[in-house]
Amino acid sequence: MKKNRIAIIGAGAVGLFAAASVISDDYNQITVFEKNSFTGKKLLITGKGRCNVTNNCDLQEFMSNIPQNSKFLFSAMRKLSTQDTIDFFVSLGVPLKTERGKRMFPESDKAADIRDALYKRAVENGTEFIFDTVKDVKESNCVFTVITKNSVYEFDRVIIATGGASYPRTGSTGDGYRFAKNFGHTVTPLYPSLVPLVCREKYLSRIMGLSLKNVKLSIVDSANGKVLWSDLGEMLFTHFGISGPLVLTASSYVRNINSFPDRFLASIDLKPALSFEELDKRILSDFTKYQNRDFVNALNDLLPSKLIPVVIERSGIPERTKVCVIKKEDRQALVRLLKEFTLQIRSTRPIDEAIITSGGVKLSEIDPSTMQSKLCDGLYFAGEILDIDAYTGGFNLQIAFSTAYTAINSAII
Ligand SMILES: Cc1cc2nc3c(=O)[nH]c(=O)nc-3n(C[C@H](O)[C@H](O)[C@H](O)COP(=O)(O)OP(=O)(O)OC[C@H]3O[C@@H](n4cnc5c(N)ncnc54)[C@H](O)[C@@H]3O)c2cc1C
Repeated sequence: MKKNRIAIIGAGAVGLFAAASVISDDYNQITVFEKNSFTGKKLLITGKGRCNVTNNCDLQEFMSNIPQNSKFLFSAMRKLSTQDTIDFFVSLGVPLKTERGKRMFPESDKAADIRDALYKRAVENGTEFIFDTVKDVKESNCVFTVITKNSVYEFDRVIIATGGASYPRTGSTGDGYRFAKNFGHTVTPLYPSLVPLVCREKYLSRIMGLSLKNVKLSIVDSANGKVLWSDLGEMLFTHFGISGPLVLTASSYVRNINSFPDRFLASIDLKPALSFEELDKRILSDFTKYQNRDFVNALNDLLPSKLIPVVIERSGIPERTKVCVIKKEDRQALVRLLKEFTLQIRSTRPIDEAIITSGGVKLSEIDPSTMQSKLCDGLYFAGEILDIDAYTGGFNLQIAFSTAYTAINSAII
């Protein structure tokens, strides 16, 4: 019997997981193409080298972490749930642990353990790895021709798993979008997501490096004053704007910002644990304690020292004003400033710096129960190349694994 020859283009999260999930045998032969000289280059840097591999949540919570098109994933998530992923890694000898926000990491804290375990199992399964760049994929009479830099191969089925367009130095340079278009697929506009935000304020360079813990960040649409999103957590000021976990999540809510410059504001509540009245009381008590000091020397108990000059500047109260003469209205304006420290968001950082690419191969052209193209039999797409992405928390890798598992189990016979 003639073997079913399956090519997977890309040995990232999708390619490795797919190849580790099924065995090359008398019926199927799986070949993975990778342009780098080793597998899983992006996987190795995930979770700051620790790999937030999935999230220990149920399906409903999982879906609530996908801002758009989540319905597409129901079938794939039923085939490979977060629990199945956890069990699979345990079976590979990589036990996982749960951290804040149900994020799961390998107990070893090493992304390399995830990559190595997948690669080892894939090789044990009989997968062939070819380290060569795929230049083009063509189909004629149900035979796919994969043209690489160095050779030409024929396959019966092809899974395109080339990733998105972010962090191109890891190999995901967007080649798969071109392959998809050549097969007549639509690629929806690509946006950076989970990406730092660029702000207008010039003084940011003076507070660059300052990290704020336990603040509340809100994204406000200045066109109508609507709060689009808000959450508590950690953020960081950089020379261009803001970054850190809260900001990366916030960026999912302003993905179209580059078409609406200056429309969105980042509003930081520097003291979320205190109500307006409580914070006013707290400042009044500090002002009583330091009544003979200048304003500039009265905020040390309240704010990180790097932030004080900026807050003073924005408060409009001259820094040498004696605290005892600061009027109630000025003090209350200071409270408002600390509860709503706003920044004008100008744009996102470029897609190269985004954790994830939003947009991609149009989902209505893909069968969600198989990941097979509706335009070309035998052609499959999985992972970041698809027009679906999630917030931070291990959800994006789970999407890669579930779509990979669905595609390969549909492609084998
Ligand atoms: C810094 C960073 C940290 C992240 N951390 C996390 C995290 O902790 N948790 C999480 O859930 N998600 C995280 N992500 C997102 C996650 O890495 C992606 O969702 C995931 O890697 C997508 O898998 P993929 O297989 O679709 O693409 P990739 O992993 O990018 O793999 C695509 C592969 O295809 C290869 N390729 C591309 N074109 C060709 C070609 N023409 N020929 C041959 N090979 C080709 C590439 O070299 C690459 O190896 C992070 C992303 C980044 C950038």
